[in-house]
Amino acid sequence: MLENILIKNTLILIQPGEIAENQDILIENGYIKKVDYHINDENFKGSIIDGSNNLFMPGLIDSHVHTGQQLLRGRILDAKPIIWTRVMLPFETQLTDAKMKLSAEIAALEMITSGTTGFVESGSYHMMSAASVYAQSGLRGALSSSTMDDPTLPKEIKMSANEAIQQNNELYDNFNGTSNLKVYYSLRALNACSDELILKASDMAKSRNTFLEAHMNEYPAEVQGIIDRTGQHPYEFLEKMDVLGPHFIGAHSIFLTAHEKEIIQKHHVKICHCPFSNAGKGVPDTPELLDHHIPAGIGTDGAAHGGLSLWNEMKIFRSVMNLHHGVQKHIPNIMPSKRIFDMTISNGAQILNEEGTLGKIQAGYKADLIGIDINQPHLYPSGNWQNTLLESVNANDVTEMIIGGKFIMRNREVLTLDQERIMYEARKWNDSL
Ligand SMILES: [Zn+2]
Repeated sequence: MLENILIKNTLILIQPGEIAENQDILIENGYIKKVDYHINDENFKGSIIDGSNNLFMPGLIDSHVHTGQQLLRGRILDAKPIIWTRVMLPFETQLTDAKMKLSAEIAALEMITSGTTGFVESGSYHMMSAASVYAQSGLRGALSSSTMDDPTLPKEIKMSANEAIQQNNELYDNFNGTSNLKVYYSLRALNACSDELILKASDMAKSRNTFLEAHMNEYPAEVQGIIDRTGQHPYEFLEKMDVLGPHFIGAHSIFLTAHEKEIIQKHHVKICHCPFSNAGKGVPDTPELLDHHIPAGIGTDGAAHGGLSLWNEMKIFRSVMNLHHGVQKHIPNIMPSKRIFDMTISNGAQILNEEGTLGKIQAGYKADLIGIDINQPHLYPSGNWQNTLLESVNANDVTEMIIGGKFIMRNREVLTLDQERIMYEARKWNDSL
């Protein structure tokens, strides 16, 4: 039974670009029931929270994260490309159920303490043990298994197309609809997936009415690999295979031809950029993509690429966009704060298949929200809260988190996971290396 929550007298970001002062928020049965200047609490039964030192806003959504790379933190900065084949893959082949559980526990803790209420896992191994952790954490997530059938892969992770699909099916059968979790299908790197696997993953996602994700157009060499194999650019190839649609998420999508942009728009494909990770590869044409109403989200790409703070990613993204596109075109407001939060929150909700149910503090929406302690010298006072959220707020300013009407963090104490025990395990693992 969920406890009702009434947050009193708080500043709210209702949705990107819309701020309201002195508001009360009533949460009942996991949903936002009412937002108003004053809600009568005479007969209210539940927790009453004083929000006068906070700004409450919809939780951030990480549209692309890898649970299995959490223990790689600090180990790949300045490494030569392609990091994926030289570093990531060898590391992931050495994972075990126990290591993956620890990895997921640290990832969940980092997301909660950074204000990320929702995430899309983009393919890792041992996902069954990670899924149990995420179910306990209370986070809202879409999970998938790493899916590849390249026969030259190391023996620990080598599998046929059928085995790869079977692994994702098992995750789906066990965890789709459990806690706040759903399960997607994924194609890890297109170059490591056969036509057979691409079609099978696509058919399975369609028949189960769920989403299909893939790493797309991330490196010039990867794009060239698809051209050599098929005579077509990656999105052209997938269009011909009939796997594109509103249920398809193309992560990265940096190196796109004009024709591929048309294809993405035509099929209502969703995309996602990972600013820190992408900054070592290239700059996406995000202003143009957004102008064409292509829903682009923001992801961290896992802790190996600068951690799981979306606050960091949004600051980096703004700098890259302004330096590359804004300066060239003499448009200083090419990527304003509202637009970036729209990507992280509103487009993130679409990528999490929660359009119309997540991303606003408004009656009828799911109660996934975070509270920021604004009573700090680096935040207060602010002449424009939308700008201050982008420029000055950091992960550790988030003190409260509610997901589906349940408190996940209060006064920075994580309530669903044992932070002390997990950090002890992490230190023990690191000392054992
Ligand atoms: Zn990735």
